[in-house]
Amino acid sequence: MSQSDDCLFCKIVAGEIPSTKVYEDDTVYAFKDIAPKAKVHVLIVPRKHYANAAELAAADPKTLAHIVEVAQHIADDAFHGAYRLVFNTGEDAGQSVFHVHAHVLTGEKFEE
Ligand code: ADP
Repeated sequence: MSQSDDCLFCKIVAGEIPSTKVYEDDTVYAFKDIAPKAKVHVLIVPRKHYANAAELAAADPKTLAHIVEVAQHIADDAFHGAYRLVFNTGEDAGQSVFHVHAHVLTGEKFEE
């Protein structure tokens, strides 16, 4: 599935809903989280719609690896390469948008 009509992040990727772009290329789009949980909180999504990280890993592992690379670059710029990378997977784990997205949390020191 490349596009899901009711998907918030498909609409953000398509530019139908505004976002603050941090990075983009042919396969991924990165933008600021609207409710940041760290000094720098960026979401990285594949342009194509996959529900979660496992689906993306099975269908397109190169793009999953690329998301990690992009996260590293964002953290290199924001906080000397230190960051947390989180994929909430499943409603009971706190996933609320079912278009896979990596939370990049950086820009500050985390104690634990
Ligand atoms: P949770 O909402 O529990 O963090 P997810 O892991 O699915 O669940 O993350 C969705 C993220 O998308 C949230 O951090 C939320 O703040 C962010 N978000 C929701 N709507 C927008 C938007 N329009 N622009 C940017 N970020 C958004």
